[in-house]
Amino acid sequence: MANLPPKFESSNLPEVQIKTHPITDKYELTKIELGVGLSGKVYKCIELNSQTERAVKVLNVSKKARNEAMIHSQVCQHNNIVQLIDVYENQSKMYIVMEKMLGGELFDRIKEKEHFTEREAALMTRQICLAIRFLHQNGIAHRDVKPENFLFATKDENSILKLADFGFSKNYRESNLTSPCYTPYYVAPEVLTAARYDKACDMWSVGVITYIMLCGYPPFYPRSERNFSIGMQSRIKQGQYNFPTDDWQHISKGAKDVIQSLLRIDPKSRYTVEQVLCDPWLDKHREVPLTPLTSGSLLSESKQGWPAMLELSLSEMRLKDTISLKPLSETNSLFKRRQKPKCSSED
Ligand code: ADP
Repeated sequence: MANLPPKFESSNLPEVQIKTHPITDKYELTKIELGVGLSGKVYKCIELNSQTERAVKVLNVSKKARNEAMIHSQVCQHNNIVQLIDVYENQSKMYIVMEKMLGGELFDRIKEKEHFTEREAALMTRQICLAIRFLHQNGIAHRDVKPENFLFATKDENSILKLADFGFSKNYRESNLTSPCYTPYYVAPEVLTAARYDKACDMWSVGVITYIMLCGYPPFYPRSERNFSIGMQSRIKQGQYNFPTDDWQHISKGAKDVIQSLLRIDPKSRYTVEQVLCDPWLDKHREVPLTPLTSGSLLSESKQGWPAMLELSLSEMRLKDTISLKPLSETNSLFKRRQKPKCSSED
């Protein structure tokens, strides 16, 4: 008997059957790339019956690809998670068909905004947390919470933000979280040090994203050394970061409190997703000051700046032990400024 792909099963989450008939029965595949990730490419496709545009992620069939499709299918009914529509396995390829997100990635959008405010940053952080709360409530740790994985549904000003890419997600109730997978800027200290860690690693990454949204650069970054495993790792492990006065003096204490509660090196004392959603900065996000932020212009300041370096590191990342990151100091005048010790507003 043919070796059929497994039916996705879970006690209280929906099940999706992988289809084995040709994807072209239902979709027209195009060569138009919507994005490139580490595990595969995402293309535009068209649902034949309705002529609706969709996105399809094409992966080589593997246990990891099946896990990604399974977890995504289990959680995609949430508003802040990219909707999964179909999963196919044809000729050793896996096709994950999703709703097509039209509004681009989180930081690309912030770069384009003329007036990005602290209130908008709070609103975006809240949507990030709503997606993560749904995962955590269902026993799933995402383990790759980073800005490239948050996509806007439309180009509208008020578009909803959704979480994508479940390639590293794992059900932590069924198995321990042990394997060290991470993106350097967003990795929690315990992922670098502990044999086992838990879903709190996602909350650290939310802290890093929130920090960047507010000021335009990351709290942890390589300074002079080229090797991620030395200085940057040690600063992450010690939770050594600050709020440089020049860029943070106008940002509210509430925002800094949230970041400090998320960037706690002890995962047990770190804010859980429920706690952060109850924090006034997110719970009463409509009352957050409309302070204009410079993060958009700093994020797009230079192609040689930290976003460019981020792309550079992405091609080498999820490394087992070490990674070479181009020091920010070499690439960006902003970071030259940061090299000098500065008094910070909230150390
Ligand atoms: P990988 O797991 O290989 O890193 P991702 O799932 O993160 O791949 O997808 C890579 C990129 O493709 C994303 O950063 C995004 O820009 C784009 N992308 C992913 N899913 C969609 C979608 N549903 N609609 C539009 N673009 C998408």
